[in-house]
Amino acid sequence: MAYIEVQHVTKRYQMGETEILANRDLSFEVEKGGLTVILGPSGAGKSTILNILGGMDSPSEGAVIVDGTDIANFNQRQLTQYRRSDVGFVFQFYNLIPNLTTRENVELAASIVPDALDAADVLKQVGLGQRLNNFPSQLSGGEQQRVAIARALAKNPKLLLCDEPTGALDYKTGKQVLTLLEQASRRDHKTVIIITHNAELAKMADRVIQINDAQVRSVVDQEQPVPVS
Ligand code: ADP
Ligand code: ADP
Repeated sequence: MAYIEVQHVTKRYQMGETEILANRDLSFEVEKGGLTVILGPSGAGKSTILNILGGMDSPSEGAVIVDGTDIANFNQRQLTQYRRSDVGFVFQFYNLIPNLTTRENVELAASIVPDALDAADVLKQVGLGQRLNNFPSQLSGGEQQRVAIARALAKNPKLLLCDEPTGALDYKTGKQVLTLLEQASRRDHKTVIIITHNAELAKMADRVIQINDAQVRSVVDQEQPVPVS
């Protein structure tokens, strides 16, 4: 059984009189420890399915089986627990807390889970051992995103969900960030899902799920993904 099974997921949003179909009958699987890229243009429905996978939203129809359990049936308390303990999130705009240091940002996130990793250790792993006491405003964009990755990894989650993680970065710093996400999958056996509109990122993936106009258009397994650097 795959680690994640998305089965016939439909998500509707009501906007006054208008109904928006953000996801239409999506079905795909994600293997444990794999690196999956969900690729599609803006408005295709990528964030919607990522939010559902992260327990931040629930589908209107369908099942989302994670590690054998359907999270679509979870109540709010179960969803909160799932978000805290099972999932690490990386966003396009880092979302660091400005008046906390790098180390404190990571420690705060880690403090809500029982078997968290040491904040300073994880920051060293992402190459920020010299930056523990800096504030986000003192760091470059690429460094801030590496703090965000450390923050996600410190929870020692099984699943890492990344929403356009290089969207605000230049090519070179983007590559550094992707290398860390690649390591999380290849070396640390995390299940990593990246959503992006950038086809370049698809090359690194084991599985590429193309979403267009709210629907899955193709699922392609790449036998020899191209390493980031
Ligand atoms: P993507 O991440 O691929 O850019 P989204 O999943 O953000 O796409 O959006 C898919 C569609 O659903 C878009 O038409 C968007 O406007 C709509 N949508 C997303 N979230 C909401 C919401 N909370 N309320 C209403 N419509 C939404
Ligand atoms: P990038 O081109 O990657 O966005 P920047 O030009 O913003 O990088 O910064 C280059 C280097 O200078 C980075 O290592 C960053 O941490 C450091 N830096 C930038 N601003 C500050 C600051 N206010 N205090 C300390 N270090 C800084």
